[in-house]
Amino acid sequence: MAAQIGVTGLAVMGANLARNLARNGYTVALHNRTKARTDALIEKHCDEGEFIPTESLEELVGALERPRRVLVMVKAGAPVDAVIEDLVPLLEPDDIIIDAGNSLFTDTRRREAALAEKGLHFVGVGVSGGEEGALNGPSIMPGGSKQSYESLGPMLEKISAHVDGVPCCAWIGTDGAGHFVKMVHNGIEYADMQVIGEAHDLLRSAAGIEPAEQSKIFAEWNKGELSSFLIEIAAEVLGHVDAKTGKPFIDVVVDSAGQKGTGRWTVISALELGLPTSGIAESVFARALSSQHAQREEAQTTLVGNEIPTELPDNFVEDVRQALYASKLVSYAQGLDMLVAAAKEYDWELNLAEIASLWRAGCIIRAELLKDITAAYQNERPANLLFAPAFASAIADAVPAWRRVVATAVQLGIPVPVFSSSLAYYDGLRRDRLPAALTQGLRDLFGAHTYNRVDVDGTFHTLWGEDKSEVQQD
Ligand code: NDP
Repeated sequence: MAAQIGVTGLAVMGANLARNLARNGYTVALHNRTKARTDALIEKHCDEGEFIPTESLEELVGALERPRRVLVMVKAGAPVDAVIEDLVPLLEPDDIIIDAGNSLFTDTRRREAALAEKGLHFVGVGVSGGEEGALNGPSIMPGGSKQSYESLGPMLEKISAHVDGVPCCAWIGTDGAGHFVKMVHNGIEYADMQVIGEAHDLLRSAAGIEPAEQSKIFAEWNKGELSSFLIEIAAEVLGHVDAKTGKPFIDVVVDSAGQKGTGRWTVISALELGLPTSGIAESVFARALSSQHAQREEAQTTLVGNEIPTELPDNFVEDVRQALYASKLVSYAQGLDMLVAAAKEYDWELNLAEIASLWRAGCIIRAELLKDITAAYQNERPANLLFAPAFASAIADAVPAWRRVVATAVQLGIPVPVFSSSLAYYDGLRRDRLPAALTQGLRDLFGAHTYNRVDVDGTFHTLWGEDKSEVQQD
């Protein structure tokens, strides 16, 4: 019997997606550069469904029904190109190569264009949910041609997470749209984790609440509007005690956050699109700062804080919860704003309601909040998430607490880069006049970069070095 899909690359993600496909009734041909991984999968899991182990890409391709579907789950970057190069001569027009790894969306656009010239479909698929999600139902964000989705969509929808019977998988848009949306998802994930970290730091450093007690606070928060996977697991990690030392687990972990690059890509992309994606950017910078060991150590003795002793506001814990919620909303708003701008830039028709909806389960940023975000984009289609009435009012309620928390953190010298930059973004958006007018004046003086006037259409330049008269440029 021919396999409906082949998977090459059987490390944790590839193996789990292959098992998920087989558990859902698909016959899956298997291949991995190093045969031991194929053997291990068959040895441990052959009873989960129909697998066809193969030892070469030729054999893998030969085992597939037509049009062929080959899922590539190798390390992102050059390995994906290497595997594609080996696969192409073995395939025929209308066959589909699927890359469900964390590829950079510009690579996906390049690969899609090159393979389209050969009559092949190349589908970049964003998959979120880690290894557990890949096995039991991830959130899936496929790009590529609409035609390829007709062949691939039913399989992906079947193996995805579901909410009330609705799959957390939908065609996102052409070429790299799926990988772009997954990248932004990961950027939001960075910001989500950073605001949780800032709340944790404030609760401990300002209010003296130890991790075990914080675990209970986070568990409580998880019952309300913050309810989400990351808050849930924050409660678990904060409550964990190190078996070796008896100390809170987080006290024995080195405080340098790792990163694999998707947050950085999100920020680079936001900069290229000219967007104020400050929450995600500050999250990436916070991880970078945490890793500057030598400078941090020197700063302990070189730099002075001169903190200002401050009485904590009443209900500080609740204030922190509200600041976390408001900052989180800003990060989502900024991330979704990136999708709007990218859709224009890359000619994608991104459906924000659908995207928010498929993040509701299976993925790392899954949260109750996404139900409301989905509803907002279905009903009101706001230009910015924060303008949707429900969110405008939620954030208005949170603003006093948010300001108190940021002010307290600043006085006490506790860094809250996402809490504070998100508040600055919120205030910046609201402000009727920004100091950008002065920036324009400076640019015009030193570089004749011109400016527009508030009262007359046109582009103007002041003759700063002469009689300071104004000349119209167009
Ligand atoms: P890895 O990223 O660790 O990649 C290992 C796999 O790539 C192995 O199968 C390896 O084969 C294969 N490989 C590496 N180089 C080559 C090459 N030149 N030619 C052929 N095969 C090669 O695996 P993961 O399962 O962790 O991740 C797969 C993809 O999914 C990545 O893009 C990752 O970013 C993404 N992803 C991972 C998540 C996770 O939680 N781990 C979550 C979501 C996405 P061999 O066994 O022979 O070395």
